[in-house]
Amino acid sequence: MAAFMREEESYMNGFRQSKIEVAVVGDGASGAILCAQLLRSIRPDEIHVRWLGRSKKFGLGLAYSTSDPDHLLNVPSKGMSAFENDPLHFLNWVQARDKKASPESFLPRQWYGEYLSALVPAGHPSLTVHPDDVMQIQKVSHSYQITTRKNETHPADVVILAIGHCLSKARFGRRPSFPLAEVDGQARILIVGTGLTMVDTVLTLGRAPRQNEIVAISRHGLLPMVHARHDGNPGASHFRKIIHGSKPPTLRQAFAAMRTDCAEAESRGGDWRSVVDDVRPFIPSVWKSFSPADRRQFLRHVVHFWDSHRHRMPPEVAEKIYYLINSGRLKIKKGRFTSLVEEDGSWTVNWRSDTHELRRERFDHVFDCTGLSRDLGATDSPLVRQMLRDGLLVISDPPLGAFPAPEAAGLEVLGHLLRGEYWESTAVPEIRKQAAAIVDRLLKLLN
Ligand SMILES: Cc1cc2nc3c(=O)[nH]c(=O)nc-3n(C[C@H](O)[C@H](O)[C@H](O)COP(=O)(O)OP(=O)(O)OC[C@H]3O[C@@H](n4cnc5c(N)ncnc54)[C@H](O)[C@@H]3O)c2cc1C
Repeated sequence: MAAFMREEESYMNGFRQSKIEVAVVGDGASGAILCAQLLRSIRPDEIHVRWLGRSKKFGLGLAYSTSDPDHLLNVPSKGMSAFENDPLHFLNWVQARDKKASPESFLPRQWYGEYLSALVPAGHPSLTVHPDDVMQIQKVSHSYQITTRKNETHPADVVILAIGHCLSKARFGRRPSFPLAEVDGQARILIVGTGLTMVDTVLTLGRAPRQNEIVAISRHGLLPMVHARHDGNPGASHFRKIIHGSKPPTLRQAFAAMRTDCAEAESRGGDWRSVVDDVRPFIPSVWKSFSPADRRQFLRHVVHFWDSHRHRMPPEVAEKIYYLINSGRLKIKKGRFTSLVEEDGSWTVNWRSDTHELRRERFDHVFDCTGLSRDLGATDSPLVRQMLRDGLLVISDPPLGAFPAPEAAGLEVLGHLLRGEYWESTAVPEIRKQAAAIVDRLLKLLN
């Protein structure tokens, strides 16, 4: 999402005569990938990159801070390079330490965190790193002023927001970022949500010698599907046909085409996964062409289906999860909560099952694994709130994220914030593409 091309002329006039000051805000995977791509492409005398983030260790962010060896990437290593034009970059890096890693391996996320941390060359002459929380970004004439929690200010001609998940407070109990090792091994646990965050939490809490009984509840009770090798043949012929038609498809048409493709793939002895994988790169453009009403329909009626098929578990993870289910330690249920009350260190949970029965159960811990909020307007981030208030960011419709206002020349965003614009905007294949587009726009300004 570029704002800086729209006012290119006035913006260029505003550049300092010396180096262009680029501030990258956010120290997770998006910030690391963006910085790495940028530093690969520029001459040190052209640009100074200021990388700001609130974490102790840069490059890890929410997904790759884990040290649990059972937490695996849910994308095979061949899909995880930080550079779209160098697709085996991650695999080559990994193979230098583990010769057995193959393009199809699902590797520990901790390794990916190490890859990301190593990606941005410390001591690069064009880079300075600032561990600090960015509280405000204000437009000052043709550039920006960044104010941090430590009350430092930094000038920037270009600001790139890579602030990621913008998680608000847990709606139910605690977030699983709580140190799970501290949870008593006999405690009874409720997990709200049945997606990949639940899977991560269960992998940690379900590991022997722990004996926790875990109940995971979500509205549809759908577990993520399991990855399987498929022939890789592009399977989405009906879907491709309608998106390349004279009019952009409606949600109903797009979804119907995809279902037909899945049915045909299966009837040929193929696999629905080849259809989902084939459709995925088109989602950002299809989502953009959907009306806000269609986007809302998707969130109401389709998202659970899409998520469980698109965000899949590696087979070795699925084996552990199904072992826990079959041994009765993990129960997956469908239902809605009517109340969760914490009293004297335990939780009383009232919920209604899919058969409309009212249930009351007690748990020692409740973990909120419901994932990302769908209302950026309710974010706790002071920075995002200020930028929305000052009109630098505009909230998407529906309010899943935000994009730079047309007047905010020099402001770029990538990753989660763009979910409202592209829907598929949070995984590495999308992030590296968005980063490359930002770097391209920046280089065009230099030439
Ligand atoms: C558990 C999990 C597993 C995933 N697994 C995969 C996978 O296998 N493959 C894949 O392709 N994708 C995966 N993803 C999706 C994607 O790769 C990640 O979401 C990725 O980490 C996104 O990185 P990010 O930098 O955009 O966001 P984040 O990880 O949220 O990082 C943003 C960083 O910015 C900092 N920040 C925010 N606001 C400020 C501020 N105001 N000032 C300073 N710093 C700030 C935050 O503290 C944070 O460190 C996974 C996601 C999750 C949550």
